[in-house]
Amino acid sequence: MDLYEYQGKELFRRFGIPVSEGRLATSPEEARTAAQELGGQVVVKAQVLTGGRGKAGGIKLADGPDEAEEHARAILGLDINGHVVRKLWIESASAIAREYYLSLTFDRGEKKALFMFTKEGGIDIEEVAAERPEALARLHVDPLEGFQPYQARRLIYGAGIENPDEQKQIAKIAEQLYAAFVGTDAVLTEINPLIVTPEGQVKALDSKFTVDDNALYKHPDIAEMRDLEAYPPEERAAREKDVTYVKLDGEVGVLGNGAGLVMSTLDVVALAGGRPANFCDLGGGGDAQGVVDALEIISADPQVRSILFNIFGGITRCDEVARGILQALNSMSIEDPIVVRLDGTNAEEGRQLLQEAAPPNLHVEPTMLDAAKRAVELAA
Ligand code: GDP
Ligand code: MN
Repeated sequence: MDLYEYQGKELFRRFGIPVSEGRLATSPEEARTAAQELGGQVVVKAQVLTGGRGKAGGIKLADGPDEAEEHARAILGLDINGHVVRKLWIESASAIAREYYLSLTFDRGEKKALFMFTKEGGIDIEEVAAERPEALARLHVDPLEGFQPYQARRLIYGAGIENPDEQKQIAKIAEQLYAAFVGTDAVLTEINPLIVTPEGQVKALDSKFTVDDNALYKHPDIAEMRDLEAYPPEERAAREKDVTYVKLDGEVGVLGNGAGLVMSTLDVVALAGGRPANFCDLGGGGDAQGVVDALEIISADPQVRSILFNIFGGITRCDEVARGILQALNSMSIEDPIVVRLDGTNAEEGRQLLQEAAPPNLHVEPTMLDAAKRAVELAA
């Protein structure tokens, strides 16, 4: 789960990493009030789950409440890389002497957390990594040893930080970042820029924070930060119903049980000359409610012209699934043609049930390839 800048900063704050004071605003009026409360110069920052906001005009300095309101009016509703701005973070502006970059991500290859630190922050880090890799200090942390003070020093000297006061602050921030990373089960934390003010204070001016979805059950307070309105309506519905759903851009809706089967179904649709519009994974289930939920989500996508149901009965028996499909079709009306391929445990019974009771827009095919071809034909 990706967090907004202001949410990531809230977590930074909890772990002691210095951040500026700020307020959330959803209207120009609220932005004005926030600027009034904060006093002095403020920065008006678009809150969207994407980077490059500065370049897109989503970050603006304001001298006071009037200007904050004006900038808020311009930034709210702005489309940044497909994300519409609905929230702003109004923050006390910082004077900047230098911009550094500090991140901690999970390196799956090494099975360790990886620190990256460079004095050349603020801009695209990919550029620094590609063009001047020697400017980027990299350091893995052994999960059993934890983050050790000598590692902080290695990181700091590696990036060429010479000022002792700065060294001390950055070492502390790196340690706090490691604690935040481990303590929230994050997979990515990034501070770009990590600034040094003219007075020599080091602080986080931005935050990028991704928490492992599979660990959210341990962090109800973070799970609650999820902003459902930021997702498209079908994805929101899927999430609420605990169905895995992914939007694609073809015309065949795909429904299967198990990630492997669903992935191969996508390939077979492509092989048959079609393109998947989306897919839903029923997981191990296939009970009537699960089928209804998935069908509702898939058929709500206006791009869907036919639906391909690919089920392999293992623990879930095909006759169960067939009953689920029939029950689902009884309780809702779907106009798109539906092609069903059932195989595995009790496949014969399942197909029989469908053949006897299914509505005319439901077609049963014996193999995956036949079913995909039929679904692609019907979508044409
Ligand atoms: P991003 O473009 O989405 O990465 O957003 P950031 O929060 O990193 O802001 C982009 C840039 O705006 C920073 O690199 C700064 O140069 C500038 N900026 C952000 N906040 C402030 C601030 O408080 N004061 C000043 N002077 N510049 C800021
Ligand atoms: Mn940034």
